[in-house]
Amino acid sequence: MIIEYTRFARQHFPELCQPRPLDSHKGTFGTLGILAGGKNMVGAALLAARAALKQGTGRVHVGFTQDSQPLEVDTVQPELMLNTAGKLLGKEDIGAWVAGCGMGLTPLAQNCLATLFNRYPHTAIVLDADALTLLSEHAFALSHEKGSLVLTPHPSEAARLLGCTTADIQKDRNQAARQISGKYTAWTVLKGYQTVICSPKSEITVNHTGNPGLSTAGTGDVLAGMIGACLAQGITPEQAIAGAVWLHGAAADYLVSQGIGPVGMTAGEVLEAARQVRNLI
Ligand code: AMP
Ligand code: MG
Repeated sequence: MIIEYTRFARQHFPELCQPRPLDSHKGTFGTLGILAGGKNMVGAALLAARAALKQGTGRVHVGFTQDSQPLEVDTVQPELMLNTAGKLLGKEDIGAWVAGCGMGLTPLAQNCLATLFNRYPHTAIVLDADALTLLSEHAFALSHEKGSLVLTPHPSEAARLLGCTTADIQKDRNQAARQISGKYTAWTVLKGYQTVICSPKSEITVNHTGNPGLSTAGTGDVLAGMIGACLAQGITPEQAIAGAVWLHGAAADYLVSQGIGPVGMTAGEVLEAARQVRNLI
């Protein structure tokens, strides 16, 4: 299985397989900012952040979308730097952002998103979950560089973005992804069985890894963190996005081969397996 993965990854995602330069330091592997974790949703933020750390990001900051910080330290992953979203949005040296995972739909969350778009028009931004709902419900001033936005909807989030039903989305997933990319001049990752990826230029690819073990809470947060991690490390969007989607599914397939799923597979296990597969390819 790993030999097959290696062959596939080296052919399609060579940037994911690069050895680390001997003279590297943490600055070599980028800084990711994650705006997530509103009230009672701290876990979503931590899953995205842990996934990003375990995909090799140099530094991972979390800005919780709450008035005060709900947590001083992640005791499982104390390497993560925790803050409020308000404070994190003042930082200059963030190479890529992830926003959304359990972010909430509050005025504070909405303000954070508006500030993010306003202050970081040249930085790659991955929008997931609540950030997509906010995007579909409010008019934000989007002045981002072409290709710097990545939207990762599941089918019902996609339906909200296009103002149609989930059944409409599932009827023609390629077309739905194309419409979202066209509407927002963005990359679209339409999740679910055979995830569809559409570039801002409307080019489609379909991912074939993954299994129903992924149908459990938190796996979407893990994927958002993995895509953000690859972008923060300077991997080109083409390979960062499709590569992370492929790796996320490959990790889940690897877990099934080890008897850890599909039944009872957890998002935390997927992020650990994704690290293992990334190091073996
Ligand atoms: P979310 O719905 O945001 O939690 O994301 C769920 C993640 O798991 C996405 O990356 C989906 O593509 C993936 N996933 C869920 N169910 C399946 C399935 N039956 N086959 C393959 N991938 C799946
Ligand atoms: Mg989700």
